[in-house]
This record gives sequence, structure tokens and C-alpha cells, in this order.
Amino acid sequence: MENPFSVSLLNDFVFCPASIYFHSVDAVTDKIFYESKEQQEGSALHEKTDCGQYSNRKNILQGISVYCEEYKLIGKIDVFDEASGILTERKRKITKIYDGYHFQLYAYCFALREMGYMVKQLQFHSMLDNKNYRILLPEENPAMLIKFKEVVHTVQCFDLSHFRQTNSLKCSKCVYEPLCSFSERSDSSDHCT
Ligand code: SF4
Repeated sequence: MENPFSVSLLNDFVFCPASIYFHSVDAVTDKIFYESKEQQEGSALHEKTDCGQYSNRKNILQGISVYCEEYKLIGKIDVFDEASGILTERKRKITKIYDGYHFQLYAYCFALREMGYMVKQLQFHSMLDNKNYRILLPEENPAMLIKFKEVVHTVQCFDLSHFRQTNSLKCSKCVYEPLCSFSERSDSSDHCT
């Protein structure tokens, strides 16, 4: 049986599978030393929701933990409005809706539906410029749903020991690069197996 995987790591996995290793190693310490400034600011903006302070309306679910049995994914939703069926994930500043963003909301959508909630709409909210970006539901976007299933399957079967990042551009933008032996930039002799 597959182990549950964190929804928040799906996007990181899509960027680079090795990056999730660094997330797992003492998450608190990593947060302090290795998160980029933008990530830290985004986390701070999320804290209100995690503390349930975003809204006092009773039909608003905020920051609750969810588990999707079908795909073995665990996570914490941002905001779900039971009355309207709108599930919102807020991010600090959105410049592009990446596939990983879709996967994150799909996972939360499936988890909430398993719990009996009616999710009717998915959207992202860009906090700094106050813009909403609606995305299609999984059943309305079959191509993206297939990608989601493929990524989940890849995550569950992934073996980091055989991985080597070949995209130097990704490594050049990665906050973990100074520590990473999977980097395209590092000497292969540094790589532990
Ligand atoms: S430095 Fe490169 S290989 Fe290492 S986690 Fe970052 S992107 Fe992945």
C-alpha cells in the first residue's frame, strides 16, 4: 500500500523530485534557513487562515486537515465556502497557473468530496494584487486530470536514489542548490547512493 503524500509537496515534486527530500529534513529548520524570502512572506500571509482567522462565518472551512483516500494524499485546505461550494487556495502573488497548482486544488477537491462536501468551483487568489483565477474542475478538464493521476502515480513509485536533475536552469533557481548532490551543477562524485 502506498504511503500518504503531502499535497503541498506535489508542486515541489513537479518542479524537482529531489526538492521534497529537503522539505522533509527538519522542516522547521529548513523553513528558517532555506525558504526564499517570498516563500516566507507567503507563509506569513497564510497564517491567518491556518489559525482560523480568515472569516468567522460558520459555513467557511479554513485551514482544516484533509485526507484523500483514493489518491493517498494529505494536506490542509485554505478556504472552502460550503454555501457556494467554492474552494480557494491563496498564494502570495500569482504570475502563472502552473500544473502543480491544479494538482494541489484537485487533491483538496477530491478529499473534500470524499468527506461529503459539494465542491463546485476551484479558484486561486493572488493576495498581493487581489486577483482571482478560476480553474476548471477535474471532471471539466480531462487532460489535466490525466496529468494529475500520472504525477500521483509517479510520486508513489519514485526512487530518489536513481534521480539526477538534468535541467540546470531549475537548479540555478533552487534555494537548495548549495546543499544538493542531485543538482546538475554538482560533481557526480558527491552523490551518495
Ligand atoms: S538543486 Fe536542482 S536537483 Fe537539487 S533540489 Fe534543487 S532543482 Fe532539484
